[in-house]
Amino acid sequence: MPSRTKSQLIAENAAMQARLAELEGQLTKLHSRVRSTIRIEDELKVSEVRYRRLFETAKDGILLLDADTGRITDANPFLMGLLGYSHAELLGKRLWEIGPFRDITASQDAFRELQTKEYIRYDNLPLETKRQEHIQVEFVSNVYLVNGTRVIQCNIRDITDRQQAENAFLRTHEELLVLVTELKKVESEMKLLNRMNDLLQTCTTQEEAYQVVGMMMSELCARQNGFLAIFHASDQNLQRVARWGDELVEARFSLEDCWALRRGQPHEVMDPQAGLLCRHFVHPPGTGYLCVPLTVQGETLGLLCLMGVAVKKGEHQVRERQLALMVGEAIKLSLSNLKLREKLREQATRDPLTGLFNRRHLEDSLSRELHRARRGKSPLCIAMLDLDHFKNFNDTFGHQAGDLLLRELGQVLREKLRKSDIACRYGGEEFVIVMPDSSLADTCQRVEEIRVLVKKLEIRYGEQLLGTITISAGIAGTREHGGITMREFLHAADTALYAAKQAGRDRVVVYQEKE
Ligand code: GH3
Ligand code: MG
Ligand code: MG
Repeated sequence: MPSRTKSQLIAENAAMQARLAELEGQLTKLHSRVRSTIRIEDELKVSEVRYRRLFETAKDGILLLDADTGRITDANPFLMGLLGYSHAELLGKRLWEIGPFRDITASQDAFRELQTKEYIRYDNLPLETKRQEHIQVEFVSNVYLVNGTRVIQCNIRDITDRQQAENAFLRTHEELLVLVTELKKVESEMKLLNRMNDLLQTCTTQEEAYQVVGMMMSELCARQNGFLAIFHASDQNLQRVARWGDELVEARFSLEDCWALRRGQPHEVMDPQAGLLCRHFVHPPGTGYLCVPLTVQGETLGLLCLMGVAVKKGEHQVRERQLALMVGEAIKLSLSNLKLREKLREQATRDPLTGLFNRRHLEDSLSRELHRARRGKSPLCIAMLDLDHFKNFNDTFGHQAGDLLLRELGQVLREKLRKSDIACRYGGEEFVIVMPDSSLADTCQRVEEIRVLVKKLEIRYGEQLLGTITISAGIAGTREHGGITMREFLHAADTALYAAKQAGRDRVVVYQEKE
């Protein structure tokens, strides 16, 4: 091998030095690259740990799928807790192979859409957990690349509570709306009820009250039929006195025909096909109904019947029922009040023994009739009657037998007189009859008939047949004695009565003015 020259060796050495320097440079670069790779790897590790921690601790469900096969590659603990499936039960499965997404076609469609659009979102997806609980989730899914592999990440948020709260809110809102409408209706019903009460309080007779009830109930129960019937204790029958809507009930019916009246409490029929029906209807009712007995302190006054009330269900029915009971309450209080007033008026104007009007009523009505006769230029007559030798009658048969006779006389007068006549017990055994629109001749004839009838009376007091009795009567008329005052009029009749007594009793005498 030829030996190298010194200059060759120097050149080789320089080249080697340069190569060495170059290698050192490359080594430094390599070192720096390794360091930066290590740093990047470290950072990546940190980032992965962070991501993992997020994945593990997230309060939303996270599901990772292989975008090509659709198979589950990972699921976070929250999702497993939410759906109730273990990691092993989920891993490797496709979405539609696990319970919650069992709508296979829908899940497959969604998966295909995801593959093309790379994003899918459901605001409210119903799912069933392994525990068969129904939950609702917000489902957002997108596709991204990891190391060249397409991965699908599904974020699943449980919105069941939120949804339930929202639903509850909506329900409450709807309930409130219904309540407000109901309240408005109640308010207008209360106004009508108050008006009916006011009107009822100003009624002076029961007939007026029936009219008010009929009118106000037509307004209160615009589309519901009904009626009011009044109880007559004399024949245990009810008489229909007001109705609203269709004709439902017989004009008169027995207390026995109504379950509510028989039992003394409201009777409600929901279904007319199945319920216990009252017998007072003209035709079998087509709807349910409510019968409310009107009873005050154990005394039956009547019956309020409302059709269609019991048909409505729930709250609505309760309210309508309450309204019906309130109406019944208002009506019965008014009727019992009027009845009491009529009784007091009766007591103040009637004589309890004979049932005829008393002297006070005579004076009120006679002065009214005098005015009327004068205004209408119509005849007006009065007759004053007195029992003959009544003292003897009492002495012979006793005071109670005398009372019985007075009662019988009252009965004769009531039966014999016209509706427009006013028969009064004027004193002990003295009676005055006011006969409007009756001529003197007519009056004489009618009083004469009474005299004959009384004379023929055969009255038994216990076993004993009482003796006959006669009456004397004095008659006065306005035609013949025009411009007369009440006192003068009564005095004229009394004078005629005195004349009848003087002439021998048991007769009718017409007042004669002194010449
Ligand atoms: P006459 O009228 O015919 O002259 O004789 P009289 O016996 O009827 O006499 P008078 O009219 O003066 O007497 C009225 C009698 O009527 C006196 C009283 O005992 C009786 N009397 C008055 N009120 C009642 C009553 O409520 N019941 C009974 N039983 N008797 C009465
Ligand atoms: Mg007498
Ligand atoms: Mg007398």
